[in-house]
Amino acid sequence: MTIPAPVERCSKRVSDKTGVFTHPCPNKATTTENGKPYCTIHAPSYIREKRNAKRDAKWAAREEAQAKANLHARQASLFPELVEAAKEALEILETIHNTYHVSPNMWVKLTIAFAKARALMPEVETPK
Ligand SMILES: [Zn+2]
Repeated sequence: MTIPAPVERCSKRVSDKTGVFTHPCPNKATTTENGKPYCTIHAPSYIREKRNAKRDAKWAAREEAQAKANLHARQASLFPELVEAAKEALEILETIHNTYHVSPNMWVKLTIAFAKARALMPEVETPK
């Protein structure tokens, strides 16, 4: 009968369920860092990587939120110009509609489109 070699354990101390007491981590050591044995989840390099990944994700989320806010601000700032351009296009279309022969089917479609656009304009126009 051979005596098995002692298993090297993680050197990290962990809290018990109460959070008051600590005991040595029962996990088997899988790596050695700074001269101490650690299990996979307590290796300082693993903890550092996990913390960095969390920080990077937090910053990425902040940057994404900022980019979204910038886009919304830009869209909001362009909205009055968009309304003016739409009004101008509407006026040009109405002139074409009133000047040139338009098929009855197209005339109905244009009339409906003008009515919709006219109804929306007071709601989207910025008060001057
Ligand atoms: Zn451990």
